[in-house]
Amino acid sequence: MNLSRSQKLYARAVRVMPGGVNSPVRAFKSVGGDPPFIARGAGSRIYDEDGNEYIDYVASWGPLILGHANQQVLEPVHAALDRGTSYGASTAAEVDFAEKIVAAVPSVEVVRLVNSGTEAVMSALRVARGFTGRDLVLKFAGGYHGHSDGLLSHAGSGLATLGIPDCPGVPASFAEQTLTAPYNDAGAVREIFAARGGEIAAVILEPVAGNMGVVPPADGFLETLRELTSQHAAVLIFDEVITGFRVHPGGAQTLYGVTPDMSVLGKVLGGGFPLAAYGGKREIMDKIAPVGPVYQAGTLSGNPIAVAAGLATLEVLADTSLYDQLEARGAQLEAGLRSAAQEAGVSVTINRVGSMLTTFFTDRPVLNYEDASSTDIQRFNAYFHQMLERGSYFAPSGFEAGFVSTAHTEADIEMTIAHARESFQAVA
Ligand code: PLP
Repeated sequence: MNLSRSQKLYARAVRVMPGGVNSPVRAFKSVGGDPPFIARGAGSRIYDEDGNEYIDYVASWGPLILGHANQQVLEPVHAALDRGTSYGASTAAEVDFAEKIVAAVPSVEVVRLVNSGTEAVMSALRVARGFTGRDLVLKFAGGYHGHSDGLLSHAGSGLATLGIPDCPGVPASFAEQTLTAPYNDAGAVREIFAARGGEIAAVILEPVAGNMGVVPPADGFLETLRELTSQHAAVLIFDEVITGFRVHPGGAQTLYGVTPDMSVLGKVLGGGFPLAAYGGKREIMDKIAPVGPVYQAGTLSGNPIAVAAGLATLEVLADTSLYDQLEARGAQLEAGLRSAAQEAGVSVTINRVGSMLTTFFTDRPVLNYEDASSTDIQRFNAYFHQMLERGSYFAPSGFEAGFVSTAHTEADIEMTIAHARESFQAVA
């Protein structure tokens, strides 16, 4: 049998890496089949090792809002590389970058840079606990906040995709510090606060959920969380790792007009490099060393190459007409997918906020994780492969978002809609 280059690489990879991958959902375990190995990206496209071209809606799982290999990002990155890769001391660019973040994101008065969303969330929770002197954290089923010990129960993203409700290796005593409520269920949160409000250090959520597929907040949900956390002196944390600088220059907190106490940023912020951040009110952030006693540190935090990429990305995004373009392309994709599904007689619910969108195979609304997990995942898997074969690359999971970038043209979106028309017919 003639194996493709990707198949040969995958066969080698599984021998030396768990599942052949460095992050679980890349492995296609849920959708089946072998994952293409990617050789390069340019604009809206990625190209695999066998020369196949795809219109990419994974966007490195969210970061690449400006598309692949954007020259406005690459040029400052190349220049930064020539000045050295890391100094372990502060740089002017870090100050410029922090000032831009503080100016853009309403809840952030002070910000700390780290290397991944996982690290940012883990650190934000430590600070929230140090600030309140309490231990419990409330999260929502289907919310994913990275892979730190306390946050893996009822988590979305890869854990939802692979059906892992609770992760072995997490001590029970850690998991006990995390309470879980259904997303968009303000009543459940009220009850939890009534019972244990005085013990809750923080409520953390994705203000638009992206890791159970896209689920926007119900009317009043974010406001209720704001009210309850204020009443009970708990810290409200918006995990804007996906939504930050994507749904609005000021994040979901600006889009919905609800300001949390702390925010976590990543993905778009790092311009495709390992960079994330957490920030918030000065009185909370003043707990962090060296100002206060809550310890958090990092050899490569604020790395000059990553900061150059992040800063360049924010500078490009300062042209806010790009967000109008993202909205228009997102709406075009949503409308096209919906009518393609209708033509084929396939029931779908498409949830979209700006440039993030998920097609759920169901005829019911999807408001929380339970709804998302009762959709037709088998049919999603078949549709995913149909789309991939035709050259539209979406995440290999029914529990993830698709991302439109500023590099997607109207013609790209039309081509994907044409792929969808045939793909829906094939799975009808
Ligand atoms: N928070 C959210 C909302 C995420 O979507 C993710 C990753 O997908 C994380 C945190 C973790 O970020 P990272 O993968 O950079 O550790």
